[in-house]
Amino acid sequence: MDRSPLLTRRHFLAGLSALAASAPLGRVLAAETTKEIGKGAGQDKGKTSRLILLGTGGGPTPKPNRSAPAQVIVINGQSYVIDCGNGVARQLVLAGLKLGSIRNVFLTHHHSDHNADYGNLLLLAWGSDLAHRVDTYGPPPLVKMTEQFLALNDYDILTRIADEGRPPLKDLIVPHEFSTPDVIFEDENVKVTATLVEHPPVTPAFAYRFDCPDRSIVISGDTRPTPNLVKLAKDADVLVHEVMYLPALEALLARESNAKTLKEHLLASHTTTEQLGQLASEAGVKTLVLSHFVPGGYPFIEDAIWEAAVRKNFAGRVIVGRDLLEI
Ligand SMILES: [Zn+2]
Ligand SMILES: [Zn+2]
Repeated sequence: MDRSPLLTRRHFLAGLSALAASAPLGRVLAAETTKEIGKGAGQDKGKTSRLILLGTGGGPTPKPNRSAPAQVIVINGQSYVIDCGNGVARQLVLAGLKLGSIRNVFLTHHHSDHNADYGNLLLLAWGSDLAHRVDTYGPPPLVKMTEQFLALNDYDILTRIADEGRPPLKDLIVPHEFSTPDVIFEDENVKVTATLVEHPPVTPAFAYRFDCPDRSIVISGDTRPTPNLVKLAKDADVLVHEVMYLPALEALLARESNAKTLKEHLLASHTTTEQLGQLASEAGVKTLVLSHFVPGGYPFIEDAIWEAAVRKNFAGRVIVGRDLLEI
């Protein structure tokens, strides 16, 4: 897409309003655009949380129409990044955020679609405007991964320290590993609670709940339906959840010789549209945001199809995620 990020965001906001009101898109777009400009840069300030989907395509294969999984919650000008799929640094820039605004990074689990750019995000932020400590959180082996990433990039890091007068990057990244569900982080803006999800064979894998000053946001990570997630998301304002659309998958899998095994694997570790609607109802979430789409590339499944499939079991607000959509 060749639209500017702000226009993209407005377009989606407008699109949602248009769906709700059945008003002509152009008129709503103009109205939303005016409102956004009126808000100006002050929107970041104060204790209002912004949630931006940075990447919404599930799986390790790069896709032309969706970036790899990542989200950011911005509160009081500080960015809390959840998952670091490939391209996360650029997606943050496209969202209009400074890399120097990164306060913390949280990884749900160690599949490459969620962590491939964990180190790159911090390296590129350091090469841009990041000059403060960033504490990172995730399951083991986060500490070893951090050390090995720094070793891998030692040449560039030493060159920039000498050439550009930057502080040592290793002093700025502080990884925290954890393996059990708990409140894993709390500051003046947000409390972060982790729960174990079921994503075999990857273990432990976590979902996170962010209790912000104005609302609660839950990020599922990758998981099959699990009571832990329902409990974590109980009465949440926003649940961002992974989703797969079985009819399209079955059509794709039909071409594979090991279709049965693949389908069993997907069902054992991910959540279908119908299952997602059901668990969102059980949890009583107000807004359900679909993300980490499988299939996430082609064939591109229209928003209306995703929404209708989830709607069978969920009566609340449904948002079909897109890259750079702000909620
Ligand atoms: Zn994934
Ligand atoms: Zn995964």
